[in-house]
Amino acid sequence: MTHPLTVWCLSPKPCGDGAGHRISVPDRLFIHHAPEDPLGDPAAHDLSERMHRYQELRKELEAELHEVLATNERLTNHLRNVDRTLPADSEDLAQFLENDEVLEALEARSRDRLEELRTAIARIDAGDYDRCAACGSGIEEGRLEVLPTTTLCVACAGGGN
Ligand SMILES: [Zn+2]
Repeated sequence: MTHPLTVWCLSPKPCGDGAGHRISVPDRLFIHHAPEDPLGDPAAHDLSERMHRYQELRKELEAELHEVLATNERLTNHLRNVDRTLPADSEDLAQFLENDEVLEALEARSRDRLEELRTAIARIDAGDYDRCAACGSGIEEGRLEVLPTTTLCVACAGGGN
């Protein structure tokens, strides 16, 4: 369930899709949805059960990866093809620059997200998805539920990440 965020193309000339077209970006790039049912005692889950769940999660991560890839491609193509001739009118110019900045930020964000997703999938495949990349101890299950692409335990993330 994603609610696309709409960004308008303000290119004075058609950028390929036509000037004034909408560029929809899933807001999943920005919002991590809270888990619907937070996990209980981690000790209650045995290893095979956990591994099974990670395979389910892997499918979700892969689905998101494809979605973000498509978004990234759309933004990259747009930014590459957009007419960079700056509007003469100062109000148009301000809006044009602001829109351009937003699109570039979105593109950078989608690239970061791709990296996070690829890392998480590789970690599941390598069997060390729930091992902290910094200290090697287990990453809290609740933390992984909220931040499925984290590579650090709570202590190593230091409240950040
Ligand atoms: Zn750690």
